[in-house]
Amino acid sequence: MNTPRIPIALHQAVMRTLRVALQQANHRLDARYPEPVVNYQQRGATAGSAWLQNWEIRLNAVLLRENQQHFIDEVIPHELAHLLVYARFGRVAPHGKEWRWMMEQVLAVPARRTHNFALASVQGKTFFYRCQCQQHQLSIRRHNRVLRGETEYRCRRCGEVLRPEPPHSS
Ligand SMILES: [Zn+2]
Ligand SMILES: [Zn+2]
Repeated sequence: MNTPRIPIALHQAVMRTLRVALQQANHRLDARYPEPVVNYQQRGATAGSAWLQNWEIRLNAVLLRENQQHFIDEVIPHELAHLLVYARFGRVAPHGKEWRWMMEQVLAVPARRTHNFALASVQGKTFFYRCQCQQHQLSIRRHNRVLRGETEYRCRRCGEVLRPEPPHSS
């Protein structure tokens, strides 16, 4: 598995925000929870995830690069709170009352369960097809079925079989 490259300044900003939040939590909880492992292996359209038993936070490198400090401020407390809740309460509902308490009372941030980053660049790739009357977009799954000769798709309007368009440069 290759490691996505993150500019060093961005990684440092991640760690700075993480350390400030952890220090605040340790102070308020009178605890000495260690610094989580942070990596950039999160795939797909998910911003980040907390790996409880590994004490690890995985971040989405693409969304981090696109959203910078806004991403850090949203995702780091959210995932850190999952780890802290696990350390303190064990396995409980992921965004339940313990997590909300950790977010609002301990880390002093709004307990938002979801993030609203633009996801265009991490959502599944689509492929352009054409019939007589219009352009169509097929998911990679459908596109692969066409390539393997498993099926054909027809335009509902003109009834013609969809044909791949040459790839777009953008
Ligand atoms: Zn969560
Ligand atoms: Zn058509």
